[in-house]
Parts: sequence; C-alpha cells; structure tokens
Amino acid sequence: MTYDFDLFVIGAGSGGVRAARFAAGYGARVAVAESRYLGGTCVNVGCVPKKLLVYGAHFADDFEQAQGFGWSLGEARFDWSTLISNKNREIERLNGIYRNLLVGSGVTLLEGHARIVDEHSVELGGKRYSAKHILIATGGWPQIPEIPGHEYAIGSNEVFFLEQLPKRVLVVGGGYIAVEFASIFNGMGAKTSLLYRGELFLRGFDGAVRRHLQEELSKRGVDLQFNSDIARIDKQADGSLLATLKDGRVLAADCIFYATGRRPMLDNLGLENTHVQLDERGFIKVDEQYQTSTPSILAIGDVIGRVQLTPVALAEGMAVARRLFKPEQYRKVDYQMIPTAVFSLPNIGTVGLSEEQAKEEGYNVQIFESRFRPMKLTMTESQERTLMKLVVDAATDRVLGCHMVGPDAGEIVQGLAVALKAGATKQLFDETIGVHPTAAEEFVTMRTPVSS
Ligand code: FAD
Ligand code: NDP
Repeated sequence: MTYDFDLFVIGAGSGGVRAARFAAGYGARVAVAESRYLGGTCVNVGCVPKKLLVYGAHFADDFEQAQGFGWSLGEARFDWSTLISNKNREIERLNGIYRNLLVGSGVTLLEGHARIVDEHSVELGGKRYSAKHILIATGGWPQIPEIPGHEYAIGSNEVFFLEQLPKRVLVVGGGYIAVEFASIFNGMGAKTSLLYRGELFLRGFDGAVRRHLQEELSKRGVDLQFNSDIARIDKQADGSLLATLKDGRVLAADCIFYATGRRPMLDNLGLENTHVQLDERGFIKVDEQYQTSTPSILAIGDVIGRVQLTPVALAEGMAVARRLFKPEQYRKVDYQMIPTAVFSLPNIGTVGLSEEQAKEEGYNVQIFESRFRPMKLTMTESQERTLMKLVVDAATDRVLGCHMVGPDAGEIVQGLAVALKAGATKQLFDETIGVHPTAAEEFVTMRTPVSS
C-alpha cells in the first residue's frame, strides 16, 4: 500500500514541529497540519510571551533597586499596550521562523483543522490525505470550572491579549500559571489577589519552596488567599466583576483570571473513527513508544498528559521521529530528573525529589538549606531572601533534589540538573569549587545538615 505521506503530524506545536522536522531530515515524507498558530501554545500563548511579560514586570524591581546604587530616575511609567504590541511583533517573527524551519526541512505544511477519518487517513479543508503513521500532537486547552458567571472570567489564551492592564485582578489556581501571572500583574502595578482552594499553593513542590514563595509574594504585596474558591461571578453595570466565594465573602475585581489546569485538545479530532483509548483523566493513552491503541496512530506532548512542559514534548517528538525513521539512533525519553522553573518573582528552580517525596519513597534524608539576602540587594531597601536546598540520601550520599527560590533560579538549576543526572554525591558538590561572588556558589558551600 502506498500512502501520500510516511508521517502525518496533527499540531505544529513544540512536539509536532520537532517530530516533523526530524522525520523529514531522516528522509521521510512528512505533512504537518496546524489550525491556529505555528509554534503552538509555547510560542503563542505560553512559555515565550509569558517570559517576556515576566521580564517586563521585573523592571519595577530594577528601577527601585537602582536607587541604592546611586541612580535617580524620573517617575517610572508603564504602558501595557506598548508591551503587548511589542510582544505580538516578536511572536509574529517567531511564527515566521517556525514556518521557514518546517518548509526548509521539506515538511508539507497544511493550514487548517485536521480530523482523523480512519487509522491511515486525515481530512483537512475538504481533502483527504493518507499516511503510514499519524502523530497526534494537539496539545492542551485551559480548563475553567463551569460556575455561574464563568463566561466573565478569562484563561491563559486571553490574558496575553488584554487591551488594558486591569486595576484589580483575581487570579484563581495554585499551579505554575497562577503564581507566574500573580507575579506579572503585581509587578505591573495591579492590585493582585491569588485565590487557591487548598492550604498552600504549588502542590507537589518542596514544602520549604512553597512556604518561601508564600512569604516572598506576600512581602511584595500579592494578597494570598488560601482555602478560597469562587462560587459565582456577577458582572456589574460599570463592567466590573463581583466574585462570591464559597465561604460567602464577596471580592470586587476588574479581571478574574482562571489558571486551573489544562485539558487535552481532542475537539473534533475524529477519535471516534479509531480505536484510540483515553486514560482515566481523559488524556490519550500511549505505550512506552507513544503508540496508541491503534498501532498506526501515535501521540506525544500535552495531549498524553505526562509532563506538560515544552522540553518534554520536544524530547518525545524526537524519540518518535527516531524510532520510526532512524531506529539506530533511538533512545527512550528519560523522565527522571526533569528540571523545571516557575517564573514567579522571585523564580523557583527545581530538579529531582522534594524532601517530602524522598521521605515517601523511603529514603533516609539529610537536608541542607540556606536562606540569605542576595548581595545585589544589600544596598537596596528590598528585603527579599533567597532559598537554596539540597535533599541528600544519607545512605549513599547521592543528591536527590536541588531546590531554589531566588533570582535566576531556572538558569542555575539547569546546570545542577546535569550533575544530578550524572548521580552526583554531596561530597562531589563539596569538592566543586564555587564561582565567587555568586548566589549559585551557595549550592557547593552548604556544609551542615539542618535535619536528618
Ligand atoms: P502545543 O504546543 O499546545 O501544540 C499543539 C498544536 O496543535 C497547537 O498549535 C494547536 O493549534 C494545534 N492543533 C490542535 N488540534 C488541532 C487539529 N485538530 N488540527 C490541526 N491543529 C491542531 N512549558 C515550559 O516548559 N516552560 C514554560 O515556561 C511554560 N510556560 C507556559 C505558560 C503557559 C501560560 C502555558 C499555557 C503553558 C506553558 N508551558 C510551559 C507548557 C508548554 O506550553 C506545553 O507543555 C507545550 O506547548 C506542549 O507542546 P505540545 O506540542 O504538546 O502542544
Ligand atoms: P497546574 O496543573 O500547574 O495547576 C492547576 C491549579 O489549579 C492547581 O493549583 C489546582 O489545585 C487548581 N485547580 C484545578 N482545578 C480547580 C478547580 N476546579 N477549582 C479551583 N482550583 C482548581 O496547571 P496550570 O494551569 O497552572 O498550568 C498547566 C501546566 O502547564 C502546568 O502543570 C505545567 O506543566 C505547564 N506550565 C509550565 C510552566 C513552566 O514551566 N514555567 C508555566 C506554566 C505552565 P490542586 O493543586 O488543589 O489540584
């Protein structure tokens, strides 16, 4: 049987583009379908514009701290629409780069919504294409609970295109997006509250990290309301919103932003025409090699709901391309020791096990912890403190986890991730010479365990 393509990729996001480009590079005939925007979530409404807004928000600190170093500035003013239009221009530039990357590597780019018709065919724009393998890389979509008035709230797809900076914002949720956007809005000068339904946000992160960020965000003026959830939202005649909480309190806001997780994007994908099965959370079920219950159909990235991070989608895309078209170079994706950063202000950087996870897994742990005022802030009014923490296996001396809250935590933890992946012991950390004067050197100078 001959097919139009060896591989038909649905979704030109992080995972889809990586799989398509590499497969084409290995000589396969590849098509990729994209219904919205080249580069997917990360480039258009995720990592990239988010980081640009975080940079924007950080200038508030920079201007204030500059005074301690002798600078006097006029009154700093911030214009949201300039930031958003410059951000839009940068994203358009990146969309163009993605187009060139795909076309330049010989991939056939099909713009429109793709629907699977059978195990080897996809329909797009009234045309049917056959393929030996179909790769679903359709990502995810913000999930907003359907409380009365939820239509007045926005999610992460809309937040990047707000026409004005709201004066009062309620951010709902306690995950990555909620803490990042609470920091962004607060940094820009909006009166910001974060409402989280549980005791303490960032469930799954190390306890010390969660508490430290709680303190730092509070110091910066973010109103943290834990054990709080909205029951209904009402719109006032003047356009402002009233959120009635489950405990009866009523909060007024100009914008209510939900960051309450993401569902897999399966809308009108035609899965009913296949044997593809979903897991208990509704994500596409795949085996170790990303094969679904229909052998010719594979799936990667956010739509399989394993680790919803761009570098993980990239690694999965690469693994699929290699397994299908360059098997001699195939390597399984290693899900251990995935470093991650939360771009709150201050940032979190983390790799490996939290203290709680390590204990749950039965390790006898030694904890090394350091809290200090970063040198850059010593001549300023800022009372921000940095946290660094190592979780060590007392039996083998292996470092199981590194955690940091402070400036550039993501940058610092990326390097430490290599050491942890290589199985570094605490002794190796101790024998490593520091770079002085940096904050990062603290990771190799913590000598006394705080508890064991
Ligand atoms: P996506 O990038 O979502 O791509 C899927 C593509 O498929 C989309 O372009 C979509 O339009 C297209 N599509 C869907 N259905 C169809 C169809 N039927 N036909 C044609 N096309 C279709 N991760 C990080 O690592 N670091 C970060 O800092 C970070 N920040 C984030 C901030 C936010 C606000 C959000 C929402 C996410 C963030 N992420 C971050 C997560 C990251 O964006 C995702 O993990 C990553 O984009 C997943 O890649 P993917 O290829 O699975 O899907
Ligand atoms: P997360 O899964 O990180 O967090 C969702 C939050 O919403 C949790 O605090 C959860 O609470 C809460 N929640 C879920 N459902 C409800 C509900 N019905 N009512 C009230 N609260 C609810 O999702 P995000 O949306 O923040 O981000 C999605 C994913 O995107 C992240 O998990 C991450 O993988 C990725 N991402 C990565 C970033 C990075 O690398 N820097 C940045 C942004 C996103 P509970 O804990 O109680 O379940």
